[in-house]
Amino acid sequence: MTNAKEKLEQQMALLHQQYLDRLQQELPQLQQQLDQLDTTADWRPLVAKLLASFHTLAGSAGTFGFHELGQSAKALELQAKNWLADTNAPAAEQIDSFRHIFSQLRQQKRLVVQQRQQLPVAAKSNEKKQTLIYLLEDEGDTARHLCLTLSTFGYVVEWFKQSHLLQAALLRKLPDALIIDIELPEETESGLSFVERMQQQLPEQLPLFVISGHDHFDFYLKAVRCGALGYFVKPINAQALEARLQRLLAGRQRDAFRVLIVDDDQLLAKHYALVLETAGLRAEILNDPADIFAGLRKFHPDVILLDVNMPQCTGPELAQLIRLQDEWLGVPIIYLSSETDSERQLAVLIKAGDDFLTKPISDNALVVAIFARAQRARQLAEVMTKDSLTGLLQHAHIKERLATELERSDRAQQQVSVVMLDIDHFKKVNDNYGHLTGDQVITSLANLLKQQLRKTDMIGRYGGEEFLLVLPDCPVEKAFSVIDKLRESFAGFPFSFDNHTFYCTFSAGIACGNGHLQPDLVIEQADQALYQAKTNGRNQVRIFAAPVADE
Ligand code: GH3
Ligand code: MG
Ligand code: MG
Repeated sequence: MTNAKEKLEQQMALLHQQYLDRLQQELPQLQQQLDQLDTTADWRPLVAKLLASFHTLAGSAGTFGFHELGQSAKALELQAKNWLADTNAPAAEQIDSFRHIFSQLRQQKRLVVQQRQQLPVAAKSNEKKQTLIYLLEDEGDTARHLCLTLSTFGYVVEWFKQSHLLQAALLRKLPDALIIDIELPEETESGLSFVERMQQQLPEQLPLFVISGHDHFDFYLKAVRCGALGYFVKPINAQALEARLQRLLAGRQRDAFRVLIVDDDQLLAKHYALVLETAGLRAEILNDPADIFAGLRKFHPDVILLDVNMPQCTGPELAQLIRLQDEWLGVPIIYLSSETDSERQLAVLIKAGDDFLTKPISDNALVVAIFARAQRARQLAEVMTKDSLTGLLQHAHIKERLATELERSDRAQQQVSVVMLDIDHFKKVNDNYGHLTGDQVITSLANLLKQQLRKTDMIGRYGGEEFLLVLPDCPVEKAFSVIDKLRESFAGFPFSFDNHTFYCTFSAGIACGNGHLQPDLVIEQADQALYQAKTNGRNQVRIFAAPVADE
């Protein structure tokens, strides 16, 4: 943590020095232009140039801590704007006062920079790690059932029969979540009072899930007061507990929000990127607006941060260009500009774009504004692309991802495996145990896939009980062993219905997606392999083999 902070301070100091160097060059040039003001007959182009320079300066100076310099630049920008709006040339005394402000501005460069705000440095935890669960349960059967289910889903579970053993483990290492039985007849205190006592001693509140033999209001209330996030009555529905665990922990392991920054001022862009990254977001800088589509495809931003005035093409033009493609309609475009005139801001927004932030902006304000918009955009995208029962990508969206991945893997010369997976005799599950139980089987398989596959793998609900998986950089042989292992886990997984235990299986077909194959063709091949698995007796995985031509 301290290292990250120190590194940030160093990088900030470096950027700051670079900005000072730039001022060192720019201010004398501005002085020269200013000196020509009362000798040039053709004053308009000159004032327009000055206006543009002071506009940029007003935006950047504050960001680097030169607040007064920024304010003077803003005053000069407004003055220049007024001159341009007038038909008469600026009067001599106006130019004098302009020069006076400018000389003050040059003095301000030497002023001590105000103390930077302290930014919270986010811990880096984007990698998917195994989730560690501590379980406190005195009954062996319940504990073994939970351990089996949770480990099938890929969790690491440590089971403690007695609270003092759990206490010792908590002091050694903190888990990602706690599951506590609240009735411990052998102990002097209940599971809840133990947890309450423990939570007070821990550096952070741990996500708590409660299991209990009581389905009673008073117990629910006590659990809530201890900060419980889930309450499960025995006999435990382990899949339901796992589903809730996964949902609640998913938010904590979410990918960092991605922000694409387009600004012709490299120093400013670097500064914003650094500020955002320090707060735990990911930032990418696009130097050349002409690369916008490649940049979007590569980086998939949650938010685009766009400068308004750029030499090659303006921010609003670029925003309109982005909006030409449906694919990026959901990504908010936020302008970051020195433009403070609300009429002009509106004129820009009416063309394209979603919001306006004004330069200079404090680091915290930038982080909060971007974070809030990225979070909202991510939520909307989830609702629009994910299936509501399983949280997996919907049919059209997994196909879209497949198309993108096929292109990417072709460029990277990697093999991508495409898997079509279908639950066996699923009609019977619905017929025997009802549609709701059927839904639970679908959700469990979805959760198993989410837990066990890599973060880079893409999982879609292709149809009712049919799933399409896209596994990048994964040859078919490797895919076979991964999917076959999953098949075994799933087949050994007990489902319960009215005290009755039943098992389900699935079949899968795998096709190789490298080369220049069309997405539909690869899906068709995986489907053919799935068909072979089904006709060959189900509960198995097959790799597509091209039929040998008869001669
Ligand atoms: P096979 O082994 O050949 O795949 O047999 P099957 O019974 O699984 O195959 P089929 O595709 O004929 O039947 C799938 C059934 O899944 C039909 C449909 O009613 C049911 N189903 C589809 N979507 C859902 C859903 O969201 N929830 C539930 N509970 N059932 C669904
Ligand atoms: Mg089926
Ligand atoms: Mg089916």
